[in-house]
Amino acid sequence: MSMTIKKATWPIAKDLAFDINNKANAAIEKYGRENVINAALGTLADDSGKIIALDSVYDRLSQMDRSIIASYAPIEGEDGFREAVLDSLFENHRPKAFMTAISTPGGTGAIRSGVFTYADEGDPVLSHDYYWGPYKKICDEFGRDFITYNFFTDDYKFDIEAYKAAMAKALENKDRLVSIINSPGNNPTGYSLSDDEWDEVIKACQDLAIAGKKITLIVDVAYIEYAGSGKQKEFFEKFTGLDPNFFVIVAYSMSKSHTAYGLRSGAAIGISSKKEIIDEFENSLAHSARCNWSNGVHAPQLILKDLENDKDGYKKELENLRLMLEKRAEIFVREAKAKKLAMIPYFGGFFTFIPTDKAFEIAENLEKENIFTIPQAKGIRVAICATNEKDIIKLVDRLSYFMANL
Ligand code: PLP
Repeated sequence: MSMTIKKATWPIAKDLAFDINNKANAAIEKYGRENVINAALGTLADDSGKIIALDSVYDRLSQMDRSIIASYAPIEGEDGFREAVLDSLFENHRPKAFMTAISTPGGTGAIRSGVFTYADEGDPVLSHDYYWGPYKKICDEFGRDFITYNFFTDDYKFDIEAYKAAMAKALENKDRLVSIINSPGNNPTGYSLSDDEWDEVIKACQDLAIAGKKITLIVDVAYIEYAGSGKQKEFFEKFTGLDPNFFVIVAYSMSKSHTAYGLRSGAAIGISSKKEIIDEFENSLAHSARCNWSNGVHAPQLILKDLENDKDGYKKELENLRLMLEKRAEIFVREAKAKKLAMIPYFGGFFTFIPTDKAFEIAENLEKENIFTIPQAKGIRVAICATNEKDIIKLVDRLSYFMANL
């Protein structure tokens, strides 16, 4: 028997990452934290496995007046927040274009509204074939046609030919598409598109736009603050002088950059060469906000606004986290190399990735040794964000053992 309508009825499936994380936590309870490696979930943890919460963010929250925390934010977001999003995201790499930021509950909300607003029912939404699971779920929910293309060439460069071919095919009988690219610090691979690869992506989109197709590119930058020391933002300048049929949305998230996963704050930033396209974006996304989540959480908006005026403490904390992650990644890469374990080139973000078609079998064997990773169709994702240096060495050792022996 079913009460849900057809469009809202889905096979019962647990979220794999959260499910494995629950198993890891149960193992920690039973065997003790020092005997369990939890490399499953994408939240930054210190060397003892405790989730990190930045002082610069949470001191401000604990000092905030309750009545302010309790109050509604404007639907589009606090004015100061919207400006702070642009400043903190682009720094000195703003595109020369019309832009606005609309508050969303995390990057997820920005992606949801981008897909809903710029692809109609049945329209294609493209992404690389290593992708964050909710992209497909969002498309399924709205009846958009989620299509993947080969992410990498054999030597692990962005497969631009596959991207162009997928767009051309998707547009054979359609006049618009949405393309989602998650870079820098891709989840699950750790890959970042180079500036040359961005040039090629932009040219491919521009060519289609000039030919009359409506192209919306959603750039998911959830991990951008952990994918370089500033240069990783230079590509934003390339979104200058776009054809009016080529619209860019940057999905901004405070979850990782501010260790604010549970505070649910982010923004969709629209970028266009035409002001009327931006006005339309603002109006449409505000409408979606009103009938989905109404307004964003007020407190993190006010915190971001405040941090922009007094950012030294925050910047220092963030830099320490970035360096911690960089060190963990270096150790992972070094150990993998020593064990001749092939991995996707890591440029940043919370995860490293070992390609294998035996991922589920290997992960199951690792679990028997209380090592928790995320198996996927194309390989194993390791959350180095949550794993200390000593555990990374052990994890790579056991992973390479099972890779060689299963
Ligand atoms: N995009 C990617 C690739 C992610 O991994 C995540 C979170 O895990 C998000 C977007 C959005 O996160 P949030 O909605 O918490 O900002």
